[in-house]
Amino acid sequence: MEKNKMIATPSKTREIIKENQFYFKKSLGQNFIIDTNILENMIESIGIDASAGVIEIGPGIGALTEQLAIHADRVLAFEIDHRLLPILDETLKEYSNVNVLHEDILQADVVQRMTEFFKADQPVYVVANLPYYITTPIVMKLLEEDVPFQSITIMIQKEVAERIAAQPNSKQYGSLSIAVQYYTKPEISMIVPPSVFMPQPKVHSAVLELTKREKPLVHVCDEPYFFELVRGCFAQRRKTVHNNLANYFKKKYSKDEIGSVLEEVEIAPSQRAESISIEKFADLANAMYKKEHNS
Ligand code: SAM
Repeated sequence: MEKNKMIATPSKTREIIKENQFYFKKSLGQNFIIDTNILENMIESIGIDASAGVIEIGPGIGALTEQLAIHADRVLAFEIDHRLLPILDETLKEYSNVNVLHEDILQADVVQRMTEFFKADQPVYVVANLPYYITTPIVMKLLEEDVPFQSITIMIQKEVAERIAAQPNSKQYGSLSIAVQYYTKPEISMIVPPSVFMPQPKVHSAVLELTKREKPLVHVCDEPYFFELVRGCFAQRRKTVHNNLANYFKKKYSKDEIGSVLEEVEIAPSQRAESISIEKFADLANAMYKKEHNS
């Protein structure tokens, strides 16, 4: 198809919006992509080919969905806004390999839907220009529910992408970096200016690729315990890990008791959480867990 007839162009997007008297809902994070080149680059860098299955979250009027339909074997899209369903029926009518579900991704049984739609053993990629107001819950849902995907490639707010990909000893490193890096290897592949969206968001965006690890980065005795303890260590970023932990465990352990566990796992009590690697956090959580469970 000629590029200027594609949905991800300013003129076609304007036309679809006008014909359907569609108005954008800010509360649903509706910023539609109007640049086909960016989408093609994104799809090429993921390595999507005619054997691939793709899950898309929030197809909007179908800008990204159309490109995915052209390159992949089949596309399963979840859209919460009922007003977009008849529009998508029309804009994607030439693509028989797309199935749009009217579902909130946070409520959906994604694994069940995948089993129903994709071929057995088909590699499945998650690709989305995410609604920015719920980036973290969506990413954590896909990771925690162990959705069987090869990778997640998402366009999100640049600051959030930087927090997810951050390494220790940086301002951005925190419990979100650790939660996502536990399951995946993150890489920012593109910075995207507001001008490629309609309407334009106030912030810059980034394309973040999360490649699933075969097994989690570190061994932990209990995952929820580990993630909560990490959050506790970052509760007040300017305080030492010793002080944050003393506060976190204040009803259970004295500051001295926590000091001995820190010594055992070779973390200096004066360190701040932002200087502690994921491996060291795992040692710390496992040592505290064993202390609590007398094992
Ligand atoms: N993919 C389109 C594009 O790139 O032009 C639209 C992206 S727009 C940033 C986000 C889309 O997600 C909107 O269509 C919005 O209605 C949809 N959305 C918002 N919250 C959702 C949710 N909880 N579940 C599924 N879709 C959602």
